[in-house]
Parts: sequence; C-alpha cells; structure tokens
Amino acid sequence: MRVFTAALATEINTFSPIPTDLASFKENFYFPPGTHPQGARLFTAPLAVLRRRAAAEGFALIEGTCTFAEPAGMVAREAYETLRDEILGQLRAALPLDAVILGLHGAMVAHGYDDCEGDFLARIRAIVGPKVVIGAELDPHCHMTRAKLAAADILICFKEFPHTDFLERGEELVELCLRAVRGEIRPVMSAHDCRMIASFPTSRQPMRSFVDKIMRLEGRDGILSISVAHCFPYADVPEIGAKVVVVTDDRKAAGDRLARELGAELWAMRGKTTPDYDGPDGAITRALANNKPQPVVLADPSDNPGGGAPGDSTVILRRLIERRVEGAVIGPIWDPVAVRFCFGAGEGARLQLRFGGKTAPASGQPIDAEVVIEKLVRRAHQTFAGARVELGDCAAIRFGGIRAVLISNRTQALGPDLFTNLGVDLSAQRIVVVKSTNHFYAGFAPLASEVLYVDSDGPIPRDMRRVPYRRVRRPIWPLDDDPHREEAAQ
Ligand SMILES: [Zn+2]
Repeated sequence: MRVFTAALATEINTFSPIPTDLASFKENFYFPPGTHPQGARLFTAPLAVLRRRAAAEGFALIEGTCTFAEPAGMVAREAYETLRDEILGQLRAALPLDAVILGLHGAMVAHGYDDCEGDFLARIRAIVGPKVVIGAELDPHCHMTRAKLAAADILICFKEFPHTDFLERGEELVELCLRAVRGEIRPVMSAHDCRMIASFPTSRQPMRSFVDKIMRLEGRDGILSISVAHCFPYADVPEIGAKVVVVTDDRKAAGDRLARELGAELWAMRGKTTPDYDGPDGAITRALANNKPQPVVLADPSDNPGGGAPGDSTVILRRLIERRVEGAVIGPIWDPVAVRFCFGAGEGARLQLRFGGKTAPASGQPIDAEVVIEKLVRRAHQTFAGARVELGDCAAIRFGGIRAVLISNRTQALGPDLFTNLGVDLSAQRIVVVKSTNHFYAGFAPLASEVLYVDSDGPIPRDMRRVPYRRVRRPIWPLDDDPHREEAAQ
C-alpha cells in the first residue's frame, strides 16, 4: 500500500487588510517533504498518525509539503498556485498510490479562487483517478463546497471549537481511509446545507450536547463519521454557510436522511449558540465587581487574529488605562516594531513606547506610554492542545498596574503559557484580556473565576448582519429571516 500526505492550510478573512503571501506561510510553518518535526501541528495530524501507522503496519508513506499561514486577508494568486503546484508535483512523482490523506483548513480564498481546496482536491482527483481514496481533515470553520464534496471520498471536520480534537479526528480519518483502501468499507458522503451563517462554540450549550449526540451516533448503523461544518463567517464567497456532512458505509439514502435531520436540529439552534457580548466598559465593570481570588478572563473575539483580524486593537486596553485599573494583563498584541524597540532597550529598561493600534482604523489609536520592559524572550511560543505555536520574539511590558505581551508572529491567545513564558503571574491578575474567539477557552477557563466575552467593535463583528457581504448566495440566515421558506417559495 502506498499513501501520500501533505498539508495546505489557512483561513481567509476576505475583509482583512493584511495580505497573505508566500512569506506568510513560511513565517508560520513550512516543512518540505521529510522535514516535519515529530508530533502534529494543528493541520498535520494526518501526517503524524500516518508516520506511526506506516512504521507499525509496513506500508509506504510518501510525505509532501506541509504548510500553514496565520489567518489573514486574501492569498496572493501566485502564492496559492506555487504551493498547490509544488504539492501536485510531489503527488505525481509518488504515483502509483492507494490513498491521498490531507490536512486542510477549508476556508482558503485566493485572488481568482473562491474555493482553493475545492480546486486543489479536483486537481488531485484528476491526477490519481477515480479509484484512489482521497480523504481530508478540515477545520469546522471551512466552506463545505460542492467541489470539495465531489472530489473527496471522506471529509472530516474537527468536532470541537476550540479545536482540541484535531489529533482524534486525524486518527479517525486515517483509519477510515485505510479501511477503504483495504476494501472493508465503501464510504459515501451526504451533506445538508442549513442556509445559515453563525458561530458555534462547543464549550457551551446547546452545541455541547449536539456534538455529544453526534458522537454517540457514529460507529453504528453504517454511520462512519458525522461532521458539522460551522462555516467561516468573514468571507465573501458564494458557498458560505453551516452544513452537516454524514459519511456512511454505502448507505447514501440513510446518510441523506440523517444529514437533513441533524441539519434541522442545528437550524433550530440559530441565535442561541453564542454567548452574550458586553461592551468594553460593561465587561471591565463586571470584572472589577468580581471579588473571587482568580482572575476574570475577558475575550476579545472582534480582534481575533485566528479569524484574520490584525490583533493589535487597543480599544479594550485604552479603557483599562483610562479607568486606571490595577492588576490587568492583555495579550497578545501584534507589534513587531515595538518588540524590536524593546529588545533594543533591554530587559529592565524604562522607555517611552508607542505600540498597538497600527493596522487599520478598527485597531484604534496606538498607545503611547512610559513602559518598563519586564521580560524579553527570543522565539517564544505558546501551547495549544499539546502543539507548539511560535510567537517570534516577544516582550512583556508594564505601565502602571497594567501589563501587555507584545508578539512578533501574529497569532491569537491559545494557552496560558503565552503569558507565563514571559514571566507574567496570571494568578496575581484581576483581569486577563485575551485576543481570541474561543480557542483560548480550554487553556484559560480553568484558571478563571469568570469568562466574559467583549464586543470591542473590532474588524470581526459579532453580528453577521454587519459584515459587508456582496457575493454570498441568498437567501441565508441571518441576512434573510427564513431562507427555507423563501427557497421553497421560489
Ligand atoms: Zn477554526
């Protein structure tokens, strides 16, 4: 048996001002064949699982390039085509093959390509032919397009948001693909389009119970796998929207029925899946009123770099400063220039520093403050579900009773070691502000007395009706009240 694997992943916010080029991929991770380190990154679980199983079971594994760019704005056409053609060349050289098993995100948009992975998978199918098993692990914030469904045999999304289960889903994908190659199963996919754009954190109800229920349905009655493609709301592409995908062992009609039933359940949850959002002042007031010893964590999803936002908004920080809050820390703030100045001055130095608020009007104005540089770390990192996430050179600064962690590689807050590796004692803080929508939750909720979600009016609005879509296929909720009735009437 011969199996090919590669990873090509990013999530594109078509409204973000930050272009994604080849350097954006190389800055995050870019591993040519055979150079991927041991263990898995967020989109390379298939490779890690396949290495172990190939060694144990004696099949041939051919590795292609694995690369990921931090979510940002549209990918340059040349960048997508270069990476795509590099991997397709490796694939051609690896023929003949029995399976192609990929790590993708599923929401990559490039100039000239609304659906990069749909294009990529279709080209792979054309190269390997109809009999080779093609499987991919996707982020639930993907666009589950017809092109993707048509080209692949098995598509599996992470079930959890935060995406703590990427390794388990990688195991599941590899297992099903290998069984399909051995002829033990004949996977077929069914998909139902819910006609809705929304966010579905699984750390809270009602999604928690929905995911638990889905997992109980898997593994019986010919149901191999069930995925909920949440969609990525900040992309102006026609095929956006939440979908349910059911993979059955050659039971298409039953799969279609189940996808429709689960899709109807998801539709019934609309408007109930996300937490309530405070404005910055409301959240700070609530946090200060909390007298428990553990800190209150304030999440700032509207400036979440994980969704393509710059991660340099100063809106919440400015209110903390103006209200003279003592014992607060915010991170990460993406400002490589300010970090460089901090390294230039050195640990322990006191200097007048301008930081944050640079990238776009929604980032707010920069902060000008006399700061003390408390700690500097070259090539710092944070940890998410056991995976190492690079932060580049970082600085921890303090001004009055407030601290901030400045980073060089734009990324969201994922693990508490974002702060602790920079010497910040989180247990000594009253307020911890994290730039993240929900990935922070698994790491930070255990040390928080309370988690509050803030709408800081950043570039990722929480109300999808405020997103300036032009190309999304209508009707769709919440842009249209009842797309199902409107569709039926057409
Ligand atoms: Zn995601």
